[in-house]
Amino acid sequence: MKEHLNVYNDVLQLVGNTPLVRLNRITKDLPGSYFAKVEAFNPGNSSKDRIALYIIEDAERKGILKPGDTIIETTSGNTGFSIAMVSIIKGYKCILAVSSKSSKDKIDALRAMGAKVYVCPANVSADDPRSYYQVAKRLHSETKGSVYINQYFNQLNADAHYASSGPEIWKQTEGKITHLVACSGTGGTISGTAKYLKEKNPNIRILGIDAYGSVLKKYHETQEFDKNEIYPYRIEGLGKNLIPTATNFDVIDYFEKVSDEDSAHTARRIAKTEGLFVGYTSGAAVQGTIQMAEQGEFDQDSKVVIMFPDHGRSYMSKIYSDDWMNEQGFFDSQNEFAAQKIEF
Ligand code: PMP
Repeated sequence: MKEHLNVYNDVLQLVGNTPLVRLNRITKDLPGSYFAKVEAFNPGNSSKDRIALYIIEDAERKGILKPGDTIIETTSGNTGFSIAMVSIIKGYKCILAVSSKSSKDKIDALRAMGAKVYVCPANVSADDPRSYYQVAKRLHSETKGSVYINQYFNQLNADAHYASSGPEIWKQTEGKITHLVACSGTGGTISGTAKYLKEKNPNIRILGIDAYGSVLKKYHETQEFDKNEIYPYRIEGLGKNLIPTATNFDVIDYFEKVSDEDSAHTARRIAKTEGLFVGYTSGAAVQGTIQMAEQGEFDQDSKVVIMFPDHGRSYMSKIYSDDWMNEQGFFDSQNEFAAQKIEF
């Protein structure tokens, strides 16, 4: 292994150690400095490489996983891709139950990585037998020698970020970070990273991003699971219609909610202003940051790290398609749509 020459024994050695990139334009009107932790630099192009590798290696160490066994998971796409990648290198079969909300590109990519994919309806309750949770559970009970990763209810999900994302950010900011902004889905990223950072400096503010249509913010503020908060929304991987036990609500100081429309426009602006082609939830995270700045969350001394979970290429048929944006009613007027369409 000659890591100093950028030579590796396999692709898994490239997981983690992602760069921190200063945002120079999109946050220029906000007080303080802003940095993106660009998780698309992982080999599977998302933060989920960290948890897939960590959880699978933990199962190997405990003797739960043996060569040729099957790994099963529910996933909006990114975790599935990472598990499929790790499975290829380590010789496991991979079965994934995904939400029909996931983009076609993501589902095709999973199949390209050798996974068997079941597409399940998005807008049914978590205890419905058709939901991707229930489908994965059933496949796990029916498949001999299988392990169910269960990222929403697996403490190891947050532990993976405690072991890697937290220390990386602390080192990269030389301990000067004042705020962490992270989207919450399973809550693994924000919970594990926050636990590490708060152990280093309990004054660091941990700011979660939730979606309109999700229960997380209300639950954080009232400890009540309010079904009235739940309705369909577009952003993939952010927010939830249940309370994941992988989320440690105690380490999160505040949740900000963002809309599908604002997040989509902000992701498109990140691409155009920073040259960073990133996913829908990166747009959501920056959108939430801008909203919190308007509420006075930051000052001139703030050093804010924003997690950018994945790459823009998975959203070509969604937020990076003008036709899709128009279909959603995300362009203010037909003129705006027409202006986007002009070619010279
Ligand atoms: N963004 C995207 C694109 C994701 O797939 C996920 C994971 N569901 C998240 C953000 C949220 O990360 P976490 O599950 O660690 O809360």
